[in-house]
Amino acid sequence: MFINKLISGSIIAYACVASVCVNASAQHQKKISITFDDVPIHAEFILPAQSVKDINHKLLQTLKKYNIKATGFVNEGHLKNDPQLLQSLLSDWHEHGHDLGNHTFSHMSYHKTDLNTYLADIQKGAITTQRVLGKQKQKFFRPPYLHAGDTPEAQHMLDKGLKESGLRLVPVTMENADYVFDAPYAAKLQHKQLSAATSYKQYLEFTEHRLDFYENASAKMFDQPVPHILMLHVNQLNADHLDSILHSLQSRGYHFQSLENTLEHPIYSQPTQAFKFGIHWLFRWDKSKENKVNWAKEPEPSAEAFAEHQQALTTLNNGKL
Ligand SMILES: [Zn+2]
Repeated sequence: MFINKLISGSIIAYACVASVCVNASAQHQKKISITFDDVPIHAEFILPAQSVKDINHKLLQTLKKYNIKATGFVNEGHLKNDPQLLQSLLSDWHEHGHDLGNHTFSHMSYHKTDLNTYLADIQKGAITTQRVLGKQKQKFFRPPYLHAGDTPEAQHMLDKGLKESGLRLVPVTMENADYVFDAPYAAKLQHKQLSAATSYKQYLEFTEHRLDFYENASAKMFDQPVPHILMLHVNQLNADHLDSILHSLQSRGYHFQSLENTLEHPIYSQPTQAFKFGIHWLFRWDKSKENKVNWAKEPEPSAEAFAEHQQALTTLNNGKL
């Protein structure tokens, strides 16, 4: 209590145990790891190769500006028709110091397939990535749709299969439904509509609401700040507006750290129940234990935003790009 008071008064405080003193404020720092799914491109609709290159380039430049070492979860299958581009983009991520994890080859749902087919798709999805990583082994796995096993047995078998492949399943504690806002934004940009500006503003506002909610949920669930893992997707919307999101996280007091460091925190070793639907781990931990958070209040994109997303996909997939 005394130490906390000192910290809130911005005085550097030290906690001393058996003559070993550590900077107590460092223990209470807000920390976050940035992760991207669907590297090198989220593939709800087809984009020209040049757009894919530009999106990756912009994301990497923004991450560099904030000196962030991120982790990208790769779907090699999304660029299976252009292996050269796939290898060159993955090399860019690697050369910028980011880690490359696995996200299956074909963005497969574990809840809709058997374990062996799923594990084979994971192996298939590591070929180009491993070539890029060289001697460095791929360590991390993020399941598409956050489908991590819909029964305790399925969950256990996946963990076992991943461990045998040297992979660790990586949770998500914060996400902002970016894919819902991306397709309308991309469609409007393509048609040079000024309303693209409103799409991205809605996205950034929604991101703030989600961050507020997750921060409050974490404060209810844990007695001190825990390191978070933010999940974003590789898309046009984030390429153009990642800077605003990272700036907001910094303004909220977050320090960016590597996924390895975040996963060392004991919360990431907690078991959870199996869930039939894909959901982040704050929900899983809370529902599996004390149920302290009113999850019905978690902000969701509006019905209009979902409808606009569907409509934009139809436009984009009808070859109007
Ligand atoms: Zn994905």
